Parts: sequence; C-alpha cells; structure tokens
Amino acid sequence: MGVTFAQDPKGPHSTDVAPDTTLEQIEDGGGSVGGPADEDVGVGDRPESQAPARVDLNEPERRLLGDLFAIVSEHAADSAVQIDRDRVQDAFVFACEQHAAQRRKSGEDFIVHPVGVARICAGMRLDTETLSAALLHDTVEDTSASIEEVRARFGEEIAAIVDGVTKLTGITFQSNDQAQAENYRKMMVAMATDMRVIVIKLADRLHNMRTIDAMPKQKQMEKARETLEIYAPLAHRLGIHAIKWELEDLAFATLHPRKYQEIKGLVAQQRDDRERYVSAAGDYLTGELAELGIEAQIAGRAKHFYSIYSKMTRKGREFNEIYDLTAMRVIVDSVKDCYGTVGVIHSLWKPLPGRFKDFIAMPKFNMYQSLHTTVIGPEGRPLEIQIRTHEMHEMAEFGVAAHWVYKQRPGR
Ligand code: MN
Repeated sequence: MGVTFAQDPKGPHSTDVAPDTTLEQIEDGGGSVGGPADEDVGVGDRPESQAPARVDLNEPERRLLGDLFAIVSEHAADSAVQIDRDRVQDAFVFACEQHAAQRRKSGEDFIVHPVGVARICAGMRLDTETLSAALLHDTVEDTSASIEEVRARFGEEIAAIVDGVTKLTGITFQSNDQAQAENYRKMMVAMATDMRVIVIKLADRLHNMRTIDAMPKQKQMEKARETLEIYAPLAHRLGIHAIKWELEDLAFATLHPRKYQEIKGLVAQQRDDRERYVSAAGDYLTGELAELGIEAQIAGRAKHFYSIYSKMTRKGREFNEIYDLTAMRVIVDSVKDCYGTVGVIHSLWKPLPGRFKDFIAMPKFNMYQSLHTTVIGPEGRPLEIQIRTHEMHEMAEFGVAAHWVYKQRPGR
C-alpha cells in the first residue's frame, strides 16, 4: 500500500484509526508476497515434527495447509501464542473430509473457504483453538457432522466456539432499519460468550466479501449492504480496525463500483507527492527525536476509500476538500516517549488549536489509545499525526483480538 493518507479524524465512525497494513498484507507476511509459502514452511520440505505428513491429504490440500502454517510461522517469533500444529492439522483433515464433495460458487473446493477464514485468524495471531474452530466453522452448519462429533474429537473448548459460530449463522438480519441493525449487533455480541466466536464470524464475512465476485449480482448487493450495516460497525465496536476497513472498502466496491474506481484513481494521483512529503518530514522528525534518545518508526497512513466516500456524501464536499490532510504515524517504545514525541513535534511545527487529543490518558470505548495532533508542517501544509506505542498499535489494528491474545493467553 505504501505511504498513503487518511482524512479528517472526526466523525460518527471515528475514522481516526487508520492501519498502515491490511490483513491481506499481514497474511502475506507484511506484503512480501512470494511463493505460496516461505522457504522453511513449504509443505513438501517441512520437517516431520512440524507437521507430520498425512497419507490422506492430496496435493492441493497440502498446499492449503502449508499456506496456513506459513502465516503461523510469520508470527511465531512475535506472538505470545504457540500454535499446536498437530491439532490444527487434525481440524483441517476433518474439515477436508466433511466438505469433500462441496464446491464454492466459484467452482473451487469448499475447503478453500474455511482455510481462508483460518488464515485471517492466524494473521491476527489467534490461538490453536481459534484456528481449529475457524477450520471447522461450517462443518456443523453445512455438512453431516454433528456438534457432538466435533466435541468428541476436538474437545469442549473448540466445540463451544464452533457451536457459537453455528448459532450466529442461524439468526439472520432482514431489515434496513438502523435501530434494527444495532439490535442485531448487540444480539450477536450477547450470544457469543467467547469473543473468539465473533472474531471468526468477522473473518468468515471478510473471506466471503473477498470472494464475492462469484455470487449472483443481487446476492452481492445484499451481502455488501449487510456488511456495511452489521459487520463493519461490529468490527469497529470491538476495535478490530484491520477487518473494519477492509470490509468497508470491499462492500463499497460492490455497491458503488464507479465511485470506488473514481476515488481510488484520485487517491493514486496524489500518492507520489504525499509520499515524498511524509518521507521528508519524517526524516527530519526522526533526527530530532534521536537527539533526545527517542527511537521512532514513522510512516504515512493508509487511505480507506469508503471513509473518504462517506465523508464526501455526508458533508456534500468535493474530494479535494476532504482529502487535503497529510497524515503520519509515529510509533515509539513507551508511553513516556509518546508524550516526549508530541512535545518535540509541537516545538518544531505549530499545532492547530483544538486538535490535540490524548487517547492514551483517556482511551476510547473500544480500547483504542494514541495521541493525535494536527500541526502546520513543512511547506505550510497541515500534517495530521498519531503517536502510539507498539502495543497500542496492535490494539488499534486487532482490538479485542489483540487484547485477548495478550491478556488472557499466557498460562493457559
Ligand atoms: Mn463460512
């Protein structure tokens, strides 16, 4: 995605959290898209101990499992969660058997879908139980497998998650009414006693939206609307912005393809200029911070087409009126460095009144934390800056999922 920019940070959807990576990039290992799997996790040459070869997996199945484990490997070093590959593989084998005869609308083997969902979960560094349940999430709903069978083979914890996802799938949303949508979201949260159920449900929708082209047009429109009304707000509520942004942009592209292309084109036109600007301002800031012993990672911020579009529509503004702010993110090691950094920034560049927000001392409802400020940057251009620690950044991207991994996993 490169260096890109977000717009005015205020608004009903709090569009002030813009991740600079998409889940897709995370799954591909930060955008290093190479082969299907990186060198030490290719299925063919994996050591027996990592994933014992099973006679009953055919070549495409082995490749799918290898792709999933490649993502697990990417995060093995930086995650507190250790994935039990044997158990995940067992869930994969069971899912392959159960979905054996099924095809997706696209003609692909059905198993591609649960693996896609598990990959999204692995990208969020979720645990063995979540990855297993993601692989199994459609078995009880769509195949002859029973929840008792799942419980007997995979245990109570995984069965409870699968059961939760199955039950959520059973309730459907039909109204276009806002209050109804809100009730439906609340009901989903209430029904899921385990947050991992909702995370799988969101990953399920995300994978379906990524592959929505195979659906009939009418169905595409329905799914896209439901995604905007139910799933993206749900992801926002749980602080899982990495999923929220992608869901919104996929739904936007489906509902308004011409507008989507238009905004995408306009964003692309200005990209070089903005990348150059942020890079120059960032280099300067990095040097000033280094003198104070503050180590910082500075990047531009990703654009999200739907948030630009909804702001244009809501406020009746032109693209350039909305998209005139350049945005930068500074990631540092400690809370103390966050405050030190904003001090340096305000001494280098004049802050705009009323734009400094301390979401570290006062986090948002979805646990989002950062310092926000807007300054008159180099060349007299307004520059919107977010400052946060690495851990806050994880929270901003993965919300309850990150929280869950950090706070509840160790020792389990
Ligand atoms: Mn599904």
